[in-house]
Amino acid sequence: MNSVFNLPSEKSTILIVDDEPAGRDTLEALLITGNYNLVFAGNGPEALQKAKKYQPDVILLDIMMPDMDGFEVCQQLRSDPDLFEIPVIMVTALDDRDSRLRGLEVGANDFVSKPFDRVELRTRIRTIAYLNRQRRLRTMELQIERDFNRAILDALGEALVVTDQHGTIQYVNRLVNDSIELPEKSIAGKNWLILGDNTLSSKHQEVKKTVWGGETWRGEITGIRQDGTTYDAMLTAAPLPKYYSSPEPSGFVLILRDITPLKESERLKDQFVSNVSHELKTPLAVITLITDNLDMLYNRLDDDKRKKMLGDIQKHTENLNTLIDSILEVSRLDSKRISLEREYVNLALITREEIDKLLPLAHQKNQDVTVSGTQSLPVWGHDGQLRQIIRNLITNAIKYTPEYGKIDCTFVIETEENIPESFKSPEFIRTKKKWAVIRFTDTGSGIDATSLPHIFERFYRVDTQNRVRGAGLGLSIVRELLTLHNGHITVDSVPDRGSIFTIYIPLLQEA
Ligand code: ADP
Repeated sequence: MNSVFNLPSEKSTILIVDDEPAGRDTLEALLITGNYNLVFAGNGPEALQKAKKYQPDVILLDIMMPDMDGFEVCQQLRSDPDLFEIPVIMVTALDDRDSRLRGLEVGANDFVSKPFDRVELRTRIRTIAYLNRQRRLRTMELQIERDFNRAILDALGEALVVTDQHGTIQYVNRLVNDSIELPEKSIAGKNWLILGDNTLSSKHQEVKKTVWGGETWRGEITGIRQDGTTYDAMLTAAPLPKYYSSPEPSGFVLILRDITPLKESERLKDQFVSNVSHELKTPLAVITLITDNLDMLYNRLDDDKRKKMLGDIQKHTENLNTLIDSILEVSRLDSKRISLEREYVNLALITREEIDKLLPLAHQKNQDVTVSGTQSLPVWGHDGQLRQIIRNLITNAIKYTPEYGKIDCTFVIETEENIPESFKSPEFIRTKKKWAVIRFTDTGSGIDATSLPHIFERFYRVDTQNRVRGAGLGLSIVRELLTLHNGHITVDSVPDRGSIFTIYIPLLQEA
């Protein structure tokens, strides 16, 4: 330990207590040549006060003092938790057996008598001061070692609880407080079963048996926080060493890891897989059905019929393709494999290009598509990702707007005053940045107020939209891609009247 903890080296301190100046002078003269700090007190109260202040290694205490004599001083020292360990050498008259006995009763460690024998006095002081310094150093070392271990346990990254052999909580590290929200003061001294709900009580015997058998128990439990909320926890319980002749461990160490996020991502993954398989199967089933029919009935069908069936296959294959693209995009977003390459992009230009590509879809439904606003909307972004955002929003507008509906797309440059409060960052306000804004307006089905807050969630689809195909991924991708561009999206919608989706991306301004 010494190599890690450098303890300060200091001289031993001796407190000399005597009401008579001559007595103090004598002791000073005898001890001055020793390597000591000498501190003096002329009465009992002063002695107690200086003992507190200097924490001496030895107190040389005269018995005969007015008001508070040496016995009483010694008694008070022994009953003070800060002072009770300080060694006391009482100064008595030679052969004063009664005083020595009383001294022992009130807790004196040793005696010297007047007139002083110089050698004896020095030897006794040296020995006692040395022993006391060793004790103090050891206490300090233990304290440092304890702080050191606590720091390690706090840095562990796992919530740790230590109990005694009855299961009573003795110690918790900081993470118990920070991550699973059980402050030490609220659980110290309680039984460890309060860490979980009744599923823990039912496993209690099993855990105890394993740990008592000297093994480590591992398993999932439902943990309870101080506010009563629950979380999924992975519990590891291990035995502490056995001491003395006890057949049982002296307690156990419990490590609790909050695995709620892990569980949640597992649940999402399962849901994802089941949704995706469903969405993939449906168009495949339709394609298989049409090709089977085509195969069996080929000769009996006229050209128009065959063309129509081929067209249907094409349409479903395209849907399948779009779906697979969305799934891959979501997977790239999740695994952070998405490209962060940025370049200059004119948002107005690429939006016009994407709209042109989708016009045939709108024309099939006799929809009127208009585009207006500035020709130049420079942003710093990823061309492909920005095109994907625009494509998803326009496809939705076409999909969810009935025949003969209207779709409009408007480009604007907005200053900080005209954007929603929650998008404003101090940096933006300071630099008076501007935003590239595109507003997609349609006269479609609109979205009801209950569904509106959820439409950007993965796989969320509005119940009433079952006629229109979709996996519920488009808008979630839009939002995530916008976030990667420090952008935002808002939506205003009135059922049966239409919707306005507005995207905001920081405008690329000349330096
Ligand atoms: P998908 O279109 O594949 O269902 P999205 O994530 O793109 O998935 O959209 C989620 C839901 O939001 C859709 O199911 C639809 O109900 C609703 N929605 C999206 N865009 C519009 C729109 N322009 N008009 C009406 N409803 C819309």
